Amino acid sequence: MNDTMRSISADVPSTLGAAGLLTIDLGALRDNYLALARRAEPARAAAVVKADAYGLGAEKVVPVLLEAGCRDFFVAHFSEALKLRPLIAADCRLFVLNGLLPGDEQTCADTGIIPVLNGLEQIALWKAEARRRDTVLPAALQFDTGMSRLGLSLDEAKALAADPSGLEGIHLEIVMSHLACADEPENPANTAQLANMQIAGALFPQTPVCFSNSGGLFLTPDYRGALCRPGIALYGGVPQNGMENPGKPVVTLSVAVVQTRTVPAGTAIGYGGSLVADKPMRLAVISAGYADGIPRCLSNRGAAYYNGVRLPIAGRVSMDSIILDVTALPEGALKLGSMVELIGPRQTLEQIAADAGTISYEILTSLGKRYRRVYRNPQPLKA
Ligand SMILES: *Cc1c(COP(=O)(O)O)cnc(C)c1O
Repeated sequence: MNDTMRSISADVPSTLGAAGLLTIDLGALRDNYLALARRAEPARAAAVVKADAYGLGAEKVVPVLLEAGCRDFFVAHFSEALKLRPLIAADCRLFVLNGLLPGDEQTCADTGIIPVLNGLEQIALWKAEARRRDTVLPAALQFDTGMSRLGLSLDEAKALAADPSGLEGIHLEIVMSHLACADEPENPANTAQLANMQIAGALFPQTPVCFSNSGGLFLTPDYRGALCRPGIALYGGVPQNGMENPGKPVVTLSVAVVQTRTVPAGTAIGYGGSLVADKPMRLAVISAGYADGIPRCLSNRGAAYYNGVRLPIAGRVSMDSIILDVTALPEGALKLGSMVELIGPRQTLEQIAADAGTISYEILTSLGKRYRRVYRNPQPLKA
């Protein structure tokens, strides 16, 4: 990142006064999808685009995935599905992971959105809707194989499979479950969940199995079933702890300096005076804070980078600004408008997440609305 990053070039929109520049490389995203789809073979790869495509903008992300050949999309909330349905080709499937809430059945059936049925109450809602319409409605059926989050217990699944009217009026598109520990390849919970998935899947032998998230795609091929559901790895996150990123980074974030100063030893820095300069310090204030998704718990912990130099966060992260210790840079190196890197070649998404005691997912889905977002379009696919 250098100062010219802030200047307006012909091919990008005006900054409209934005102090942060968030770039989203849709070409890298497409390459990540294609690599995951190859890895999944002979299974197919869906795409999880919940939470606005992990904060990156589902309206930009979905068309790129469609062009790359993705035909199955997952969101979490029904409201997200309603928003994306018009963007997704008619021959594609759009699943809602959290399934139906009472009152959503009619719109869900009208729009062709496919609910993931997670429990007996949701099954009852969908069966009743099919009965009202005197038709058959599509659904996914989820099992809880060991996470205690969403899905039928194995006992419920067995009872359902044994009841000839259990799924009357419902056509099962897929049966699915979700791995709790796929980011830890050695965790025995993975094999336990796989064994349970195999038991539950065998109850519905005609129905394709959908099992692996990003991490699961990097376990053994047994976890892949017929359809995989990667999310984070599409967006440049690392699928398993400690692994070298098999994909390409998608996001960079740089933020402008709005003021610099030098303070003598003994000066209190930021809210609460949580840091007191122990020597003369050069400081720079950048124009982003926790309201922009930079976690407040990075106070006195994380860092930004400039020309490869680490600039520790000094004092508390404020709502709209962060003070950096820039003593390591030559005097005058930073000036009003200089851009420092928060996510990029020097500081990965995983690094900033680790400093904040969180995961890449939370950093991405918290990315603020005040940044100028620049989408880099993919090159046309070769015929
Ligand atoms: C979010 C989610 C995914 C995607 O997981 P990643 O770890 O981001 O690949 C897949 N399946 C379910 C049920 C999810 O909730």
